[in-house]
Amino acid sequence: MRVGRTLPPAAVPISFREILSGLADLASGMKAVASFETELREYYEVSHVSLVNSGRTALTVILTALKELHPEREEVVIPAYTCYSVPAAVTRAGLKVLPCDIDPATLDYDWEKLEGALDSGRVLCAVSAHLFGFPADVDRLKELASPRGIFVVEDAAQAMGGEVGGRKIGTLGDIALFSLGRGKAFSTVSGGIILTGDTTLGDAVTRAVRGLPREGWGDFLLAFCYALALSLLVRPGLFWLPKALPFLRLGETRFDPRFSMKRLGAFQAGLARGWQERLARLRETRLRKAVFLEKAGVKATARSKGAIPNLIRFPVLVDEAKRRRLIEMSEEEGLGVALVYPDAVTGIAELRGTLLGGPAPQAEQVAKRLVSLPLHPYVTEKDLRRIADLLNSGAGEGGN
Ligand SMILES: *Cc1c(COP(=O)(O)O)cnc(C)c1O
Repeated sequence: MRVGRTLPPAAVPISFREILSGLADLASGMKAVASFETELREYYEVSHVSLVNSGRTALTVILTALKELHPEREEVVIPAYTCYSVPAAVTRAGLKVLPCDIDPATLDYDWEKLEGALDSGRVLCAVSAHLFGFPADVDRLKELASPRGIFVVEDAAQAMGGEVGGRKIGTLGDIALFSLGRGKAFSTVSGGIILTGDTTLGDAVTRAVRGLPREGWGDFLLAFCYALALSLLVRPGLFWLPKALPFLRLGETRFDPRFSMKRLGAFQAGLARGWQERLARLRETRLRKAVFLEKAGVKATARSKGAIPNLIRFPVLVDEAKRRRLIEMSEEEGLGVALVYPDAVTGIAELRGTLLGGPAPQAEQVAKRLVSLPLHPYVTEKDLRRIADLLNSGAGEGGN
C-alpha cells in the first residue's frame, strides 16, 4: 500500500464554494433543478431535458420510453466493451442485451459485424458510446439504424462538453444521456441527464420520469457527505487514503441492475452551478494534457479527427505483460495509470445464458490490454512526463 501523493485515474474537483451553492439551492427547492434543466435545454438547443439520479437511471428511462413506443421490439445492441452499467440498465428495463464486437483501433463498433446484429427485426435501439470522451461515429450508426426503424441512443456518459465538426456530443443521435457521477466529464457527485430534440421521445421520457420518486433527505445527506469527502479525498495528497480502504471498492466494476431510480435532487443541481464555464475549462485542461502525452510519443487507442473531445482519460493498448508491469509501477509511484472494465460484456458472469449474438473476441482482447492514463486538473506536467517515460521505456520491453 502506498502512503503519499497518489493520482486518481479520473477526477472532477469539487470546491467548498460549490458545496455551499448546493446547500443554498436546497432551500430554494426544485427551482434549482428547473433552472439547470432550462440552461441545458438552451445550451444544447433541444426540446427536452430530464434530470435523474444517475447515468444508469437515465439510460433505463430512455429504454423504457422507447419500449413504450415499440413494444414489439426487445433487443438492445450495445458495444461489447463498455461500462457494466449499460447492460445493467438494459436488464433493468426488461430488455435483452445484444453485444456487438468493437474495433480495437477506435473502440467503436466493428461495422461489418454490426450490420448482421441489426437485422433480426426485433432490435429496438443501438447504443453509441463515446468512451473516455472520444467521439463515436454516431452518423454512421444512424445511417444503418434509421432505415431499419432502430433508434440510436447516444451514451455520452463520459463525454459531456465534447464537440464533433461543430456539433455538440449529446445531440447526434435520437436521444442521449450524460452521467454526472464521480470521475465523469463533469460531476455533481451523482446524477444523470437525458436529452432529445424529438418531441415524441421527449414526451415518452417525461411520462417515465414522472413515475420516479424525487430524491429525499436521506439521498441529500448521502450526496452531501460524499461531496465533502470527494472535495478533500480526490486530491493527490489524500487519495491514497480512500484507495487503501478495501470496503470503498474504488475502481471496481460490478454488474448490478438493482440500482435506485429517482429524479435528481436540488443539492446536486446547486453543485452544477456555473457548469458551462467549468466544463469548458475542464475540457481545455484535459486536452492540453492529452496533447502533451501525444507529443511525448504516447499513442491513444482512438483518434478524434475534426473533434474537440472532452477526454476524461487517455486510453492506451499495450500487451498483457506490459500492462501488468505498468500497473505495478504506477501503484508504487502513485501515477494514476488504471485498468478500465475487467471484461467484455460477453464475459459478465451474471449475464451468461441471457446474451444474444455471438462472441466478441476483439472486445475481450481490449479488456485484457487496455489501460487509461489520467488527464484531470490535478495531473502536473511532471506527472505526465513520468507517465510517458513509464510507457515509452521502463515498464516496456523485456520480461517473460
Ligand atoms: C458511467 C457510465 C454510465 C452510467 O452512469 P452512472 O452515473 O455511473 O450511472 C453509462 N455508460 C457509460 C459509458 C459510463 O461510463
